[in-house]
Amino acid sequence: EPLSEALQRYHPVGQASPRDSHEIRLSSDRVLAGLGAGSLRLVYQPKVDMQDGSLVGAEALLRWQDAEHGYVPAPEVIRAAESANLIDALTLSVLERTVHDRAAFLRAGIDINIAFNVSMHNLHNLAIIDQMSEIVAAARDQPECFTLEVTETHLMEDRAHVLEALIRSRLHGFKVAIDDYGTGAATMQFLMQLPSTELKIDRSFVAAAPRSEQGRVLFQSAIELGIRLGQTVIAEGVETEVEARLARELGCHLGQGYFYGRPMELDELIAWTPTHPVE
Ligand code: C2E
Ligand code: MG
Ligand code: MG
Ligand code: MG
Repeated sequence: EPLSEALQRYHPVGQASPRDSHEIRLSSDRVLAGLGAGSLRLVYQPKVDMQDGSLVGAEALLRWQDAEHGYVPAPEVIRAAESANLIDALTLSVLERTVHDRAAFLRAGIDINIAFNVSMHNLHNLAIIDQMSEIVAAARDQPECFTLEVTETHLMEDRAHVLEALIRSRLHGFKVAIDDYGTGAATMQFLMQLPSTELKIDRSFVAAAPRSEQGRVLFQSAIELGIRLGQTVIAEGVETEVEARLARELGCHLGQGYFYGRPMELDELIAWTPTHPVE
């Protein structure tokens, strides 16, 4: 297993019960050390208001540069962290870092919501939601300024836990986004029970929309459904001007994708111009 050695450096797997909360804090510190050392870091991709081009948020995305294996794609890092029972520590470390980084954005006069991705495994542990809340409170920041992104794909696998964890997140004040909307097996009935605040329409719909009438109808329906359900609707993976214009015309609130901006280092995003052309 390619990543196991690298992960061992941050988490002494098998030494203590990984579900023990003290162990989670301890390993969290170790992963944080990894973030500090530069092998594991975060980049931020802008979320832009489609009407006026302003920056309204950013999504934190994990980057791993391993000394031996080079660049390791984020989903692979997550899978390895899950199988090493390191995922709670990793998610908490990511949140700690985003809380720290949001303070840097604020000092630069940029008050934006920061989104971070949450693994399905995290939602089995309700205590992690309380720990997230404590991390934000310790920095005297507001949970409303942070969004948990949960991928639709696996949501149906453990409905009771997912629902409970997301309700708990909302009670603590966090925002909740349904990621990769439209690609998973989640039923409409279940999705509508979820206390989400944001619907992220998957890139596959965004890309298909300008290419066929059927693609446009699907994209439009997804946007309208989200709007009617009171969600903030965001188009993911917007790459072209044509896709951006169509999404905007169909009433999509926000856009994210290479067309607006690639995932960037913290300093790069701070230097990034706050207002961008709408299309
Ligand atoms: P995601 O949450 O859906 O993130 C969006 C992915 O699309 C990112 O890939 C981003 O770099 C990429 N992307 C952004 N704009 C465009 C575009 O215009 N076109 C195309 N083709 N792609 C675009 P990335 O960074 O490789 O991350 C992949 C997935 O890994 C994420 O999908 C997320 O599910 C997961 N992931 C990343 N960071 C974390 C993390 O800290 N924790 C957890 N649990 N998962 C993470
Ligand atoms: Mg995401
Ligand atoms: Mg996504
Ligand atoms: Mg995606």
